[in-house]
Amino acid sequence: MLKDNFNRVHDYLRISLTDKCNLRCSYCNPVDLPRGYFTNTTKMSSEEIDIIAGVFVQLGVKKIRLTGGEPLVRKDAKEIIQRLSKYPVELVITTNGVFVHEFIESFQQAGIHSVNVSLDTLKRKKNLSITRRDEFDRIKQNIDLLLKNNFHVKINTVIMKGVNEAEIPDFVGWTKDQPVHVRFIEFMPFAGNQWSNEKVFSHSAMLELISSKYGFIKLPSEKHDTAKKYFVPGHKGTFATISTMSQPFCGSCNRMRLTTDGKMKNCLFSNNEVDILGALRSGLDIVPLIRQCVWNKKEGLGGQLSPAYEKIDATKLENRSMINIGG
Ligand code: SAM
Repeated sequence: MLKDNFNRVHDYLRISLTDKCNLRCSYCNPVDLPRGYFTNTTKMSSEEIDIIAGVFVQLGVKKIRLTGGEPLVRKDAKEIIQRLSKYPVELVITTNGVFVHEFIESFQQAGIHSVNVSLDTLKRKKNLSITRRDEFDRIKQNIDLLLKNNFHVKINTVIMKGVNEAEIPDFVGWTKDQPVHVRFIEFMPFAGNQWSNEKVFSHSAMLELISSKYGFIKLPSEKHDTAKKYFVPGHKGTFATISTMSQPFCGSCNRMRLTTDGKMKNCLFSNNEVDILGALRSGLDIVPLIRQCVWNKKEGLGGQLSPAYEKIDATKLENRSMINIGG
């Protein structure tokens, strides 16, 4: 079992398969990162991912999420999915949806039942301006394909004030006839993503906006939920908020991250990384490193962010960009 200094048990690992992505969302993949930011990255091979994941499973991990970058652009993504399917864990994936049609069978064979698809707008033109790639129709088709094949589909929607907050009620409207589970994520600060507290549209602002159009009921929370879940009576799907900035949920955090270059992060916002891949390649036992990394986890927000998000100076944060961490 992996416990930290605050008695939190960690049993959920998020593995970044790559820091490359076929989309260019500026909040995740900033255009103005210094030259060379992504070069010389030594990636974990499929075999190394398998070995490291196996060690985490022995240490009590019960859930593994594959992410990135865009996990499905990795050439050996199918092999990795298949390798990890042998572990007694809930295997899930977060994707931008563009290549999902090529992976339906692979997901099914691996026992993946739940897929998170990121989509920040229901408007084709706006999607092009956010992602800088014209893939809206393909993403929508692939969401329909997942639903047709009975996957549990969560939609990740990053809400940025002045960009897409007005569409929140439309997303809730989408849950009427389709069993989609939309999660409105508060905009978070990472390297180069031009975050400012004024661009955060908070959990309470979201609920207020939704209540102007819909009556809704809170769903019960599970222990490690990051999402506060709701449903509109009569709707097939649900909606949720992920209030990292305005109401952080660090007290029940069970998450650990492995970047594509094999560094372990005990928190999305931590500026400490432990080189698991380097140790594995040197023939060292990675178990003590993993245990120590979990133990060192700070009480909240990586020890870097103020819980009062209005006070955060994003220029002072030491972290990678989201695409380079693995969301
Ligand atoms: N490429 C995949 C995708 O698009 O879902 C997986 C990686 S992406 C980094 C994972 C999630 O992080 C996406 O839902 C994305 O919207 C979210 N994300 C990225 N940057 C963010 C930010 N600054 N604030 C909040 N969420 C962010």
